[in-house]
Amino acid sequence: MKKLTELKGIGPKTESLFAKLGITSQEDLLRYYPVHYDACEEPVKIAELIPGAKMAVTAHIVSRPVLRTVRNLTILTCEAADETGKIRITWFNAPFLAKQLIPGGVYVFRGTVSERKGRAVFDHPEFTSPAAYAEKVNTLVPVYGLTKGLNSRSVGRAVAQVLKDPAFSEEFLPESLLRLHGLVGEAEALRGIHFPENAEVLEAARRRLVFDEFLLFVLLIRLLRRKTEEEKTAFPMEKTWEAEELLHRLPFRLTNAQLRVWREIEADLAGTHPMARLVQGDVGSGKTVIAFLAMLMAAENGWQSALMAPTEVLAKQHYEKLCALVEEQQLSRVRPVLLLGSTKAAERRRILQEIADGSANAVIGTHALFQNSVVYRDLALVITDEQHRFGVHQREALAQKGRPPHSLVMSATPIPRTLGVIYYGDLDISVVDELPAKRLPIRNCVVDESFVPQALSFVRRQLGEGRQVYLICPMIEESEGLDAANVTDEYKRIRSEFPDVPCSMLHGRMKAEEKERVMADFSAGKTKILVSTTVVEVGVDVPNATLMWIRSAERFGLAALHQLRGRVGRGEHQSYCIFMAGQKNPETLKRLEILNHSNDGFEIAEKDFALRGPGDLTGIRQSGDARFRLADVTKDGEILRLAGETAAAVLSDDPCFADPQYELLGRKVRSLLEDEDTSLAL
Ligand code: ADP
Ligand code: MG
Repeated sequence: MKKLTELKGIGPKTESLFAKLGITSQEDLLRYYPVHYDACEEPVKIAELIPGAKMAVTAHIVSRPVLRTVRNLTILTCEAADETGKIRITWFNAPFLAKQLIPGGVYVFRGTVSERKGRAVFDHPEFTSPAAYAEKVNTLVPVYGLTKGLNSRSVGRAVAQVLKDPAFSEEFLPESLLRLHGLVGEAEALRGIHFPENAEVLEAARRRLVFDEFLLFVLLIRLLRRKTEEEKTAFPMEKTWEAEELLHRLPFRLTNAQLRVWREIEADLAGTHPMARLVQGDVGSGKTVIAFLAMLMAAENGWQSALMAPTEVLAKQHYEKLCALVEEQQLSRVRPVLLLGSTKAAERRRILQEIADGSANAVIGTHALFQNSVVYRDLALVITDEQHRFGVHQREALAQKGRPPHSLVMSATPIPRTLGVIYYGDLDISVVDELPAKRLPIRNCVVDESFVPQALSFVRRQLGEGRQVYLICPMIEESEGLDAANVTDEYKRIRSEFPDVPCSMLHGRMKAEEKERVMADFSAGKTKILVSTTVVEVGVDVPNATLMWIRSAERFGLAALHQLRGRVGRGEHQSYCIFMAGQKNPETLKRLEILNHSNDGFEIAEKDFALRGPGDLTGIRQSGDARFRLADVTKDGEILRLAGETAAAVLSDDPCFADPQYELLGRKVRSLLEDEDTSLAL
């Protein structure tokens, strides 16, 4: 690892700024990829400027710039024109620019176009000579995630210095493999991701780097898999009569798919190796009850189990459901506790004690379950719900005292099955491919914002029938420059439209207790309309809610939209989903149409894949999967497939990386395997 301070222009002060971004070495800096790229486009005519867009015009200055001072603000204004019109340009607190703007001179002005009194104006544009701009046109300027005191230009300068060092990259893939799959070299890829000359270069760079992330990931999980297959379980179990009985006493009959999946899990738990199984099933397919059966089996065998949910709201809901089940069915050996980040100190101490001495044996919570302070007596089974929010290695970390527990992962991430096999290569897969029979398929519609009045009257109808309604917005409050519905304003609107209907608002900036109270009130039917951000996205189960109305639907990925829709259609009543788009962009509408015509998460994933293709570079990554810097399973399916095939070929060719051509690759994978805390930060 080379220190940052070896670079020109980086002293201890800048070094500490970089440290805030998690960059502590030159190697880190190289992997600190731009979050997006600013493209300098060809200048347009003044008449063509579109408010809200970032654009450039070539224009001459028609009047001497005027400098005014208002209180302690200096305002510099001038007018520029081309043959199609005039534009007013303003700079704040930049009096020195006055000297640089020569009346009659021709400049390229570039910035975000604003609108005042119906006219396009420029506030604070950059400007250069047309010749200088011509050199920049069509290049992509990297924009980095920043902290106060660092700008993109200084990050870029530092990266450029590292890239000049010939030692910065050591190609770890054999030349033949690169050629076979049309991948660029690593050095070229790193240069291309930071400083792409054009979109093709960027695409090629990204493809190589995503391939690397997937390849190492797949190799890693396959080696992990090898390891677990050789292991003997420290938590042997027997099938139990109580679980069998519970199947018959539940208020509903398990679907065939649920029953089959339960049998697979039961057999795993009664086997000789630690279980590593994924239960994949669309939203509403009934995965929770399967998890509870497994927890019951662990308890009956005298062991502890833990169920980790991605949000507090969801953890609490699981806990309440399990408690209700335990009480109704008199499952006296299951003793649930709830442990959250927000659990108060005294209660927390009590719960930790119960976990440590084994008096609590079905522990439900969030990440808080696996902090170092939580010591289990006999943690035999770990269930993670909706695991797309968690990393693979968190599971590894659960092998407390070197005794790996059985692990069960519940996921509704709708990725095409053929990819699932690769992506979840360290797990056996069970699929719950059937919805409980009584369900009526959800009725969908895709509309634009002119349908707000109709939607409101539909809300009124549902309320009239005693049902409840979700209204989802992408933002919490109004945000400048972003044209998207927000919870605060929509809540106000709902309050004034339905003054007598109890409704509430939910978003991520509220305190944990407040969120819980809101969710509990909605679950209990005390409130009828819930205006929320996507915090309700995963898992929440309120069967009386029958209408899901999603505003600015184009702002969400299809997977998220499908999850949101999965919040309704959970009971016996006909349910509805309104996808309301804020923009009439044909691409977006086409994507939303996929949802309109299918309620099947896997089918949606397949179609979304086909529609998007690999070349989609807008906003480098969306999935937020902490395992990868660039790669996104919901987008880079083709590259994942390629990496999967490559990994299989390498391992069957040369399972121990003995061949010199795989030496560097082998070294890389082994170091990842040893590093307990790997997030696949390559
Ligand atoms: P998910 O797979 O999305 O986690 P849940 O486990 O939350 O789904 O189940 C959705 C709803 O369906 C719950 O209210 C649950 O009680 C109910 N449910 C589960 N299995 C069945 C079944 N076999 N028949 C009828 N209802 C069921
Ligand atoms: Mg669930």
